[in-house]
Amino acid sequence: MRILFVTSEAFPLIKTGGLADVSGSLPAALRALNADVRILIPGYPAVLKNLVNLEPLCSIENLPVVGRAELRIGNMPDTGVPVIAIDCPTLYERDSGPYINSLGFDWEDNPIRFGVLSKVAATLSATGSPVKDWMPDIVHCNDWQSGLTPAYMKLSHPTTAKSVLSIHNLAFQGCYDASMVERLSLPRSSFQVNGLEYYGQLSFLKGGVFYADALTTVSPTYAEEIQTAEYGFGMQGLLDLRGHEIKGILNGIDTNEWNPETDPHLAKNYSDTSISGKKAVKAALQKQFGLQIDANAPLLGVVSRLTYQKGLDLFVETIPSLITKGAQIAVLGSGEAELENSFKALAAQYPSQVAVTIGYNEPLSHQIMSGVDMFIMPSRFEPCGLNQLYGLRYGTPSVVTQTGGLADSITDTNTLTLADGTATGFKMTEVTTHALSVAISLGLAYYQDAKTWRKIQRNAMNIDISWKHSAQSYLDLYTTVLAN
Ligand code: ADP
Repeated sequence: MRILFVTSEAFPLIKTGGLADVSGSLPAALRALNADVRILIPGYPAVLKNLVNLEPLCSIENLPVVGRAELRIGNMPDTGVPVIAIDCPTLYERDSGPYINSLGFDWEDNPIRFGVLSKVAATLSATGSPVKDWMPDIVHCNDWQSGLTPAYMKLSHPTTAKSVLSIHNLAFQGCYDASMVERLSLPRSSFQVNGLEYYGQLSFLKGGVFYADALTTVSPTYAEEIQTAEYGFGMQGLLDLRGHEIKGILNGIDTNEWNPETDPHLAKNYSDTSISGKKAVKAALQKQFGLQIDANAPLLGVVSRLTYQKGLDLFVETIPSLITKGAQIAVLGSGEAELENSFKALAAQYPSQVAVTIGYNEPLSHQIMSGVDMFIMPSRFEPCGLNQLYGLRYGTPSVVTQTGGLADSITDTNTLTLADGTATGFKMTEVTTHALSVAISLGLAYYQDAKTWRKIQRNAMNIDISWKHSAQSYLDLYTTVLAN
């Protein structure tokens, strides 16, 4: 089976969040199951620089606004997965992130940048594709950035290939002025409720949701949640109509990249049978962060975008009382100024107990996931969430809300789950400061009981969170879609 995996970011080339982790690891897992996968990604400078064996593939014509672009093909540096990069300097040769400029604002031409990504994907799947010897059977799109691909495939690029759209986060919908419909060479007739129109605007994500042959979300619970007004961000009506077709497949993780036994970022490596190295990682983290080096002080960690979604404002409110209990806090993240400032103020107030690094730092994220005793993730919604999965792998139990992938991947600790060996973390009963305090306090109580804590860690580390099962679920889905 040939699969074109269309994405706007992929680790280790370029990453802003979980989509990159999935795009870096799922295609490799599909390849291990004998699927013939190619990734399609914009040729940002970091992509063109880091791909190996990069060579010209073909030119592609009739693109909106820019007319023409060159396609290059290379391989992922670590997994060898083939990657097609769209080399179009006018659109992608920029400093700063893939979506925002150095001042933190969206690039104004994002609809063109990702409209072109979508159009190239559709062109490569259609009769008349400039790549004659490799036609995909499945075009797997991800989030709004490639959301127009299924629309192009249905409206202007006839193909026998089928499209699958994975929703990694419904909060980002790619909504733009209606004039973009014509600028992106989409038929004007498609701008209607049964098409691309979304409350008077063009929505890339809605285009995908409406036209894709199959829809997935990154966890089973999120597939249910997005059909409700609370989590549907206005799209629940359409999602509800297609509800029976939405398949929730829980993300796996790259178990080579995230492996406590071999992780080069850790002061000491360790395993589920010999976990003492975790103490050394904690001590190194305390030292690096300027916290008091104390093996017995419970250390709580955060690695996150600092946004409303992540519920970390609730954590900020609990920190003063945690300090009185002798806890320490290590935070890595960036995002909303108010949240950044709240964490910075707490670090200034309690320098030996609270440490904050504002920014993006891959090695430090590994050190925190491994070195802290508990990971804090009180998300208001969480399509899948990856850090709680990394926590499982590193023997770091998480405190989570009962939503999306957090609900699907963490089992609350209580007498029953301790007895049957499934306890892996702590679940808040609701999304409030009080519920977070209660869940953390419960975690701290278990933490004082070393034997039970060790049991929870072992339960977590023994769960298979590799892509093996989920990649097979995607292959099964592709097979079903092709059969239909
Ligand atoms: P989201 O995609 O909503 O941001 P996920 O939990 O799905 O959340 O994935 C976030 C990914 O980004 C994880 O791999 C996490 O470790 C990483 N990450 C988030 N913030 C940072 C940061 N400041 N530095 C390094 N890695 C980060």
